[in-house]
Amino acid sequence: MEKILVLNAGSTSLKFQLFNIDETHHEVLTKGGVERIGLGGSSLTVKGENGTPFTTEMPIENHKEAIKAILHYLTQKYLKNTDELSAIGHRMGYGGEDFDRSVAIDDYVMQKLYESLPLIPLHGPAFVHSIEAMNEFVPNVLQVAVFDTSFHQSVEKAEFLYALPYEMYKKEHIRRYGFHSTSHRYAAKKAKEILGYNGKFICCHLGGGASVTAINNGKSVATSMGYTPTSGVIMSTRGGDMDPYIPLHIMKTQHKTADEVNTMLNKQCGLYGLTGGHADMRDVLEQANQGNEDCAFAIKAFVYSQIKTIGSYVTLMGGLDALIFTAGIGENSSYIRQLICEKLQYLGLELDETANSAEPTPTFINKPTSKVKVVIIPANEELMIAEDSYQVLKEAQNSEKKAV
Ligand code: ADP
Repeated sequence: MEKILVLNAGSTSLKFQLFNIDETHHEVLTKGGVERIGLGGSSLTVKGENGTPFTTEMPIENHKEAIKAILHYLTQKYLKNTDELSAIGHRMGYGGEDFDRSVAIDDYVMQKLYESLPLIPLHGPAFVHSIEAMNEFVPNVLQVAVFDTSFHQSVEKAEFLYALPYEMYKKEHIRRYGFHSTSHRYAAKKAKEILGYNGKFICCHLGGGASVTAINNGKSVATSMGYTPTSGVIMSTRGGDMDPYIPLHIMKTQHKTADEVNTMLNKQCGLYGLTGGHADMRDVLEQANQGNEDCAFAIKAFVYSQIKTIGSYVTLMGGLDALIFTAGIGENSSYIRQLICEKLQYLGLELDETANSAEPTPTFINKPTSKVKVVIIPANEELMIAEDSYQVLKEAQNSEKKAV
């Protein structure tokens, strides 16, 4: 077994999970996170064996201090010392065209990360500082980059290229990259395990951010997010696909800056925009139940955008074997799943209402006669990052052995 630390850095947060893992087994020894980094009122919350969260307020000015606090906590109880760590897996936002898999972090990976900083202004510095801090505190531990974009590198050119002047792609690398890679890859892997075969899958990752991916024989062939996570289906605070002229029109007529429009596109659209302030699907459903028509419409629009995307992906793949639901809404809202599945009856998809209402576990929720399987896979991106880090570690150890 190897002890692997998984880190998920946000602009003002740093989540972690410590795994004990080998080829076939894993356990989470502890997990937690630092919140409000550099904002004042920062704290470290940890969950021990019994799952009870415990929060300690402490001044944490930057990601380096957050790493220090996490390593200090781990060595008090879960590690004799930091030498016991075999690898550190980092969730990285953007791997561009350079990375189609998870890799050991070396100078080349760092150079590519620095180059991508203008594209990921919020999260990028957090990744850089976390990796640099680990290099300083535990220089001998392997660090692994697991990218949000890598799974979609198998998408073919007709799907990833926008019909812009070609130099926008050649010089500026503007193309569809897609995101939520780790989640879609994990869900497809688990779906294959419980189905017993690979086939034509469509995975709906419906969380705060949402994306739909078509997966044929284990490979991503199309995905709804694009050059950035703003495109695709309707999400909590992003509106998804829209006429590209709209932001320009708003900038011109309302004299808004690019930054202001960026904030609008990322924080004020989607469910939030349509309902006048409800970004959380639970609130939207509750309000709709109480007769709020804007919320009822937002649900309709949310489902509509899913159906359109799923339908186009069924056409692209020439069929559908399994529809997968994952992430907050996908796992927990039987109602949203039902609304989506109702519109897919033309494919011979038959939802089992009783199974659909049960608690989310990796399970089928279709009737036995259904021509399309419907599967819930609870998201676990951290486990996928730990598994990838384990594989990269074993490859590194094998190549070291060969070199000796
Ligand atoms: P994030 O993308 O922020 O990681 P999650 O995957 O946790 O988010 O998903 C958050 C979304 O899931 C929120 O919109 C939340 O309302 C929704 N959600 C969680 N539980 C339920 C539920 N029981 N019914 C409907 N929506 C739910």
